[in-house]
Amino acid sequence: MKIVLLWLFALLSLPILVFGQAQRLEQMQNKTILVFTPHPDDDVFGAGGTIALLNRNHNKVYIFIYTNDDKGSYDPDMNSQRLARIRRAEEEVSEGLLGTPKENIQWMGYDDGMLEYAPQPKLTEEATAIIRRIRPDVLLSVDPGEWYERWHKSDHRMAAFNTIDAVRAAEFWLYFPNQKLQQGLQPYKVPEMYFFYPSPQEANYFVNIDSVAELKVDAGTKQVSQFEPAVNKYRSDWEAADLEKAKKEMRDEQPRKDGHYVEAFRYATGFVQY
Ligand SMILES: [Zn+2]
Repeated sequence: MKIVLLWLFALLSLPILVFGQAQRLEQMQNKTILVFTPHPDDDVFGAGGTIALLNRNHNKVYIFIYTNDDKGSYDPDMNSQRLARIRRAEEEVSEGLLGTPKENIQWMGYDDGMLEYAPQPKLTEEATAIIRRIRPDVLLSVDPGEWYERWHKSDHRMAAFNTIDAVRAAEFWLYFPNQKLQQGLQPYKVPEMYFFYPSPQEANYFVNIDSVAELKVDAGTKQVSQFEPAVNKYRSDWEAADLEKAKKEMRDEQPRKDGHYVEAFRYATGFVQY
């Protein structure tokens, strides 16, 4: 009798378990994931652990980077073209460690700090076409939530707003109808969204990244030019002591919940309708 009851329980629980698993981002498999990031490091710092788990679980992860991040250096001998090349190479190594293939990293090519001044219709049209082409099961982007916009630096603010505007436009074919009529891109409704860099008030989803936390630290510190001392006087490598210091800071800054390393998101299934 006990065995029968156990089997009955197991059978009844199965759909719940399967359904529950399918809903957890970090347990998804064989899905298409689209990440929009303002700069070639926010994806790693904001969601690198989750991206590593998604790649490990055989999902197809695409990273679209709005800007080339070509301004953020204090080095008086740096120039924008060189910094853009450095940041690109660093991002490819960094995302590569997380398992994202180089060919899945795409550059939209806007100048650092200038996204807010890019032609708006063009910017939204580009992101809309990307969504209609990739047709993601899940989209990750910077949180456009109401608390965060106050503090966001400009590219982050713009990337957050533009991405959600494009999510909306992608559903209705009459936005940018040439994409359907001339490019054969059908409208697309993004089913699930996870926004990284949420404000603490609005974070509602946490991914346990314990198993990839050190990998995330390694990937983060491949962005050498973002850290001291290379941000002050560029060098492509680390002194051992500087590297350890940067890694320690990253570990200290990584949010924890219930004793585990986590990445925080705001989960949403649609844009605001009103
Ligand atoms: Zn950034």
